[in-house]
Amino acid sequence: MQTVQNTWKCVKCGYTFTAAPPPPPTCPSCKEKCEFVDVSCYTPDCAGTGQDPRLG
Ligand SMILES: [Zn+2]
Repeated sequence: MQTVQNTWKCVKCGYTFTAAPPPPPTCPSCKEKCEFVDVSCYTPDCAGTGQDPRLG
């Protein structure tokens, strides 16, 4: 079974990274308690980046 990796974006600093849900409580970039939006792409359109350009 494959581990699901979502693409998360920190709403504070804009840092994006992949991690299995739920997102971590703190941002790896700004080390603060941030909110994360799920910018994972599930369509073949953005297979290159794994991120949805409409959300990112
Ligand atoms: Zn951040």
